[in-house]
Amino acid sequence: MSTSKTKDKYQIAVIPGDGIGKEVMEATISVLDELDIGFDYIYGEAGDECGEKNGNPLPKETLDIIRKADACLFGAAGETAADVIVKIRQEMKMYANLRPVKTYPNTNALFDDVDFMIVRENTEGLYIAGEEELTEDGAIAKRIITRKAEERIIDYAFNYAKENNKSKVTAVHKANVLKKSDGLFKEVFYEVAERYPEIETEDFYVDATAMYLITQPQSFEVIVTTNLFGDILSDEGAGLVGGLGVIPSANIGENGALFEPVHGSAPDIAGEGKANPIAMMLSAIMMLRYIGENEEAERFDAAILKVLNEGKTLTRDLGGSASTMEVAEAIKNYL
Ligand code: ATP
Repeated sequence: MSTSKTKDKYQIAVIPGDGIGKEVMEATISVLDELDIGFDYIYGEAGDECGEKNGNPLPKETLDIIRKADACLFGAAGETAADVIVKIRQEMKMYANLRPVKTYPNTNALFDDVDFMIVRENTEGLYIAGEEELTEDGAIAKRIITRKAEERIIDYAFNYAKENNKSKVTAVHKANVLKKSDGLFKEVFYEVAERYPEIETEDFYVDATAMYLITQPQSFEVIVTTNLFGDILSDEGAGLVGGLGVIPSANIGENGALFEPVHGSAPDIAGEGKANPIAMMLSAIMMLRYIGENEEAERFDAAILKVLNEGKTLTRDLGGSASTMEVAEAIKNYL
């Protein structure tokens, strides 16, 4: 992510999507409007409702909006989530999926002092559409690991560590069993590490890491791993710091980036104004850091921290009774 402000005014593609996506987006934009940054919001449609209306859950116009913008904020898509978000990631070649695992107060976190980033490769590994086939008595899925894609994600992780004052990067793999594919991943990890002599390195097997995340989550700073392992470990990380209402994510590509909460459209509470907007807001803060607006990102983050610490204006998922917009108002009061 960038370290300094890159423009005076930013074009932001805003895709609220379905269900609570719309509510948490409205709350988040209302806070962004209070910051000392110029934004042009370009709204786009995607998701179930858009599919019903236009016959396509991800129209070309929406992709064009994302392509032209400096960054994209995405709320949630319902049943069509996989089609929409996977397609955007592919079209925009978003190779890095970032999932912060950070404790915030008054959440359902299992530990009060966890703060690390999972950097997951998002274009290859076991999750490539079409790389599965039926055989006579079962099915085969291919797991693809290329030097180019793994070097790109590993370098991203080291660079992230450097820019964010992290002192260590941990590679997660299963090179003892997957000797060729994860053997290559591990080899490339140590090659890239040589370019970052100031950053400490370690590598663990994925099964051991799943355990260390529970027994010593405080020891991690940046984890870099392949697609499937990253998918599983990032949800374990979400469990550590409690609750879908507070978990953001980012998808970064060479020509664009999309920021979205980890939660979905939550049809069970949609339209009731009860959704927790903090996951969407933390995603917007990741966007601010991506475009280089670090000071405003800090200010927004500090205001969220104050509201959570105070514990008076919390949504139902965190044990309170505040509405989505009441949380936004409380955060604005602290800006
Ligand atoms: P989708 O089909 O869109 O994935 P879902 O309900 O299967 O929807 P989520 O939207 O991730 O999956 O929601 C899972 C549960 O977590 C639901 O009970 C939902 O109400 C709750 N939840 C998710 N996000 C939030 C939020 N921001 N605030 C409060 N509760 C939430």
